[in-house]
Amino acid sequence: MHFIDLNTQQARIKSKIDTSIQNVLTHGKYIMGPEVSELEQRLSEYVNCRHAIACSSGTDALLMALMAYDVGPGDAIFAPPFTFIATAETISLIGATPVFVDIEPDTYNIDPDKLQQAIQEISDDGQLTPKGIIAVDLFGLPADYNRINPIAEQNHLFVIEDAAQSFGATYHGRRAGGLANIGCTSFFPAKPLGCYGDGGMCFTNDDTLADKLRSIRVHGKGNHKYDNARIGINGRLDTIQAAILEAKFDIFPEEVELRNRAAQRYSNMLNEVPSLQIPVVPQGFKSVWAQYSILAESEDHRITIQNALKGEGIPSAIYYPKPLHLQTAFKPLGYKPGDFPISEDCSNRIFSIPMHPYLSEPDQEKIVKKGYQRYRR
Ligand SMILES: *Cc1c(COP(=O)(O)O)cnc(C)c1O
Repeated sequence: MHFIDLNTQQARIKSKIDTSIQNVLTHGKYIMGPEVSELEQRLSEYVNCRHAIACSSGTDALLMALMAYDVGPGDAIFAPPFTFIATAETISLIGATPVFVDIEPDTYNIDPDKLQQAIQEISDDGQLTPKGIIAVDLFGLPADYNRINPIAEQNHLFVIEDAAQSFGATYHGRRAGGLANIGCTSFFPAKPLGCYGDGGMCFTNDDTLADKLRSIRVHGKGNHKYDNARIGINGRLDTIQAAILEAKFDIFPEEVELRNRAAQRYSNMLNEVPSLQIPVVPQGFKSVWAQYSILAESEDHRITIQNALKGEGIPSAIYYPKPLHLQTAFKPLGYKPGDFPISEDCSNRIFSIPMHPYLSEPDQEKIVKKGYQRYRR
C-alpha cells in the first residue's frame, strides 16, 4: 500500500505526459519556454488571481514573496510553529526574525486571537518592527483569512498565504493561493498538484508586487537580461516541469473531488472512535487533503497505532514530530518547551494515514480496521 500513490495517476495520463515532455525536447526552450506562461495563465484563472508567477519551489516562492516586500533585518514576521521548516526558514534566510504564534487545536492553523496578542507584544517591546504574517494552510485546509486579513490591515502588515499544501482547496467560495496579498504554493511531487521534481508558484492581484516577483525570479532583472534592478535569485520553473504540470492539471479538479470523497469515507468510518480526533473542516471551508491527520490520545497511543499499521504493511507518517520553535536551527531565537503548548501537544500525538485520489474503499476499510478499532480505548 502506498502512502501517496503517484503511479496510478501516472498510468492514467502517461501518454499525455510523454507527449508534453517530447514537445519540450523538440522545441528546446528549456528555460521559460511557452509551457511556463501557459501554466501561469491556467492556474491564475483557476485561483482567480490576476498574476501567477511560476518558480523553482514552494520555498523559493516564499522567499521571493518576502523579498518582494523588502523584508530584512529588524523585521518581525509572524508564523505558526506547527508547519514544515520552509515556512520560517525563509524568514531567517532573508535576515528577519520569525515570531511564532500558536495554532488552533482543531484546525491546526494559526490562531487569530493569539496572532493579535503577539503583534501587540512585539510592538510594545519595540525591538523588532512587525512587518508581515505567513499563515499556513496546513494539511490542505485554509487558515481563517476573514479573521487574519483584518488583523493585518489594522496593524499595517502584509499577509503571505503558505498554500504549499492547499492548492485546490476553497475558503468561502475562494480558492487557496488567492486568500492573502501573495499566495505561495509548491509543486513538490507529494503535494496535491505535484510535478516530477521541484516547482512552485506565487499568486497575487497586485501589479507592482507581480512585477517585482518576476524580476526577483530572474536575478532581479530590469529592462533587459543584463540590466539588474535589484538583488534576486535563480528562481525559475523548468519548462519540462511546467509541461508535466499542464498534463496533470487537466485531471486535477477531478482529483480534488476524489480526495474529498476518500476523506469523507475515512471520517465516516473513524467518527465513532472516541479516542481519536479526526480532522475538523469548518463551515465554508473545503480542504484538498494534502494529509489526513489524526490525533491519538497520547504519544503511547500513537506508537501503538503506528506499530499495528506497520505490522499490516500500512504506511503512516508524522507531520510534524517537532514544532519549529524547538528545532536546533531556531535555537538562537530563544524559545523553550512550553512556549506553544498546542503545537507541542499536537506534535506528540498527531499522525497521518495514506491519502491520495486513488485510495480504494477496501484499502481504507483495511486501514481503519487493522489500525484503530482494535485500539479504541
Ligand atoms: C512543502 C512545503 C513548503 C516548501 O515547498 P517546497 O516546494 O518543498 O520547497 C513550504 N511550506 C509548507 C507548509 C510545505 O508543506
